[in-house]
Amino acid sequence: MRLSRLAGALALLCAASVPSACTGSDAAPDSLVTRADERGALTVGIRFDQPGLSERTLDGRFVGFDVDVAKYIAGELGVDAEDITWKETTASRRETDITSGAVDLVVATYSITDAREQQVAFAGPYFHTGQDLLVRLTSSEITGPDTLDGRKLCAVTKSTSAQQVKERFSRAVELIEYPRYPDCVTALLAGQVDAVTTDAVILAGYAAQNPELLKVVGEPFSTERYGVGLRKGDTDGVARINEAIQKMIDTGTWDESLVRNIGPSGYALPPPPEVTQR
Ligand code: GLU
Repeated sequence: MRLSRLAGALALLCAASVPSACTGSDAAPDSLVTRADERGALTVGIRFDQPGLSERTLDGRFVGFDVDVAKYIAGELGVDAEDITWKETTASRRETDITSGAVDLVVATYSITDAREQQVAFAGPYFHTGQDLLVRLTSSEITGPDTLDGRKLCAVTKSTSAQQVKERFSRAVELIEYPRYPDCVTALLAGQVDAVTTDAVILAGYAAQNPELLKVVGEPFSTERYGVGLRKGDTDGVARINEAIQKMIDTGTWDESLVRNIGPSGYALPPPPEVTQR
């Protein structure tokens, strides 16, 4: 008798569009936490071509630190790795992929910035790095951003790196933009550009693929704080993802993933960031 009264009350709540009453989650109905609960699945926007961070292998698997972060978060939201749909996002598509609902979250070397926070919410940060330069091993003249005058510099459209070049060096530097980093690296190897710029941890992955031809200058000139992007206003999602990142750090899983995925590039591994409630 008591059970049927409870079932009746739950049915009423469900009918009144309170999905949390049906799923056991106390998150807002439109939170990704509720979607994860209801569907047992999540769609993650990720890069396909950033060695060490997130790469799609030839046999269709996804590997890298960003991939591990996404899997850990999904796991904490009750979603198994095999129930994640990986969707390629690029630097210029991250905001629209989130606002259009094409993905539930973005884990894609995504720097937290005020401008982006106008459109999306960020959990984290889960990693810190800085903007740097990738050059040919034979190039000794480019030693930092102040030595780029008259040079051709490749960056990815809508990355903070391209923006920073436009703001700080635009008059003296010829900026060439592509949607993806491998296009910049190919142009550098072919001698069509003099340097590629983005976050040092990303550049380290490409340098490690071509150690006899490429090197990272190693003079970072910005601070990039990687966040997990999600729909603006999803405060439950931000809180749960922050908890997951903190747990990943506290359990040593964060460190273990960094050593395994980023360690081989020789990039100096930073300590974990302070995960702030935003
Ligand atoms: N972290 C920078 C950004 O979010 C540059 C790397 C990237 O293209 O993701 O724009």
